Amino acid sequence: MRDLLAGVTQFQKDTFPKKQTRFEELAGGQSPEALFITCSDSRVNPELFTNSEPGEIFVIRNAGNIVGRKGEADLGMAATIEYAVKALKVPQIIVCGHAKCGAMQGLMSPEAVASLPEVGKWVALSKEALDDQSGDPNTDRLTQLIEANIRLQLRNLMTFPEVAEAVEAGRLQLHGWLYDFATGKVSVLTPENNLFVDSNVRIA
Ligand SMILES: [Zn+2]
Repeated sequence: MRDLLAGVTQFQKDTFPKKQTRFEELAGGQSPEALFITCSDSRVNPELFTNSEPGEIFVIRNAGNIVGRKGEADLGMAATIEYAVKALKVPQIIVCGHAKCGAMQGLMSPEAVASLPEVGKWVALSKEALDDQSGDPNTDRLTQLIEANIRLQLRNLMTFPEVAEAVEAGRLQLHGWLYDFATGKVSVLTPENNLFVDSNVRIA
């Protein structure tokens, strides 16, 4: 097993001094660019693949990047959304799913999580995604479900009054992303056709 505290020592020696000014400035407060909702999967490193500096993204993670509807979401999710939107006034919320998501695999194949009852109950919050037929039929079933779950969580976000109000007032944008850790690529949900398009194509 790797010694994580040795990693902390290394960070203090090599990385921290390079960003020390930034960290000291942040002691005065934060003003992140986004609330970033993604999966707990260890292969997904949002600060790394968005090239973000400390203070730039406000992150909440759980298995399957599941938001849930208002009242159905867990307290941690509801409180984090409330704080991000009402106190920090983030201009965007990104729901970022990822390739090969184990939580979505569990939703697709409940027998795979039969021995994990809490996981089963948790991923079942996304069961509506199983009925979503709007994905690209040329992709595999798991990818279609991962995409459908991102669409569902964006709809769920709109059940939070503070989110809906900020979106309607034009102060807040919602985005759906799909990250593939094996290639480093991000696909972005295109509102016009509800499909995911390579972020480089989207920007071009
Ligand atoms: Zn995942």
